[in-house]
Amino acid sequence: MTLRVLVTGGAGFLGSHLCDALLAEGHCVVCVDNLLTGRIENVTHLKNEPRFEFRQQDVCLSFDSGKVDYVFHFASPASPVDYLEHAIETLQVGSLGTMNCLELAKKYAAKFFLASTSECYGDPLEHPQKESYWGHVNPIGPRSVYDEAKRFAEAVTMAYRRYHKIDTHIVRIFNTYGPRLQLNDGRVISNFMKQALLGEDLTVYGDGSQTRSFCYVSDEVAGILALAKSNEHEPTNIGNPSEFTILECAKVVLEVTGSRSKIRFEPLPQDDPKQRRPDISKAKRLLGWEPKIDLRTGLQMSLDYFRSAVANKVPGT
Ligand code: UDP
Repeated sequence: MTLRVLVTGGAGFLGSHLCDALLAEGHCVVCVDNLLTGRIENVTHLKNEPRFEFRQQDVCLSFDSGKVDYVFHFASPASPVDYLEHAIETLQVGSLGTMNCLELAKKYAAKFFLASTSECYGDPLEHPQKESYWGHVNPIGPRSVYDEAKRFAEAVTMAYRRYHKIDTHIVRIFNTYGPRLQLNDGRVISNFMKQALLGEDLTVYGDGSQTRSFCYVSDEVAGILALAKSNEHEPTNIGNPSEFTILECAKVVLEVTGSRSKIRFEPLPQDDPKQRRPDISKAKRLLGWEPKIDLRTGLQMSLDYFRSAVANKVPGT
């Protein structure tokens, strides 16, 4: 069945890949983005697609997409550099923006899907992180603008489900990478790829022993779509459970790019989580989903994009 789907944050890195996947499934997509951190270049390849419509719109202000069957709420700055620069906007889009999108879902009896995050777990004391873990978040630290906005977004989504009977889903997304990752968003993969390709030092924060688990974007989107079609309504981790220290990650980037860049150690940002790895047993069991692409392969698949972006051939990066 062809659905009319609203994707907020649809010009962002992950949102734009989601738009592509929904269009490939035959749906019509209304893509809304205020372009604060999203880039119009991420969706320009869709400009002649009759089933695709782009609207520059801030979802924190009241808006109406017209009748939709499904709302995917992906709007938010998502990299630490971006949400620290846009702290208030991040809190607004997680709170007001999420409520506006839930109101739209209510008005049109549409399903609602929230892009949440592993940041809900904070600097986790439980490892790997299961969905049942409530997290260890500093509510007033610099990262709280993102962590608490997303925790509020989860709370309000569950409240609309309980009180307004909206059909809702919540994904907790772990570190995701691939083509369209913005070169200057400060994320570890974009920084390391850029630095390696330019022959600059790779900046490892702290001693590089902190861990992350990186999911290639097509795996992430496949998990998101499986969850969107499922009967699971509580938060579900979608990410790749292979865990790397940041130092190991730097070495993989050097190997894949063939770069001779050196590693330079810089101070660790405040409240930087020491470890992150999703427990994906729930997604495997309920959705039959698991990631297929390992970090080395995914970085190889992203190499052409990063090469073009570094050569300034990708506008807006
Ligand atoms: N990081 C790093 N060098 C960089 C950028 C990030 O060592 O140039 C580290 C950062 O301190 C964190 C990890 O890499 O421990 C992942 O950072 P990112 O900003 O990609 O996302 P996070 O998982 O912290 O939200």
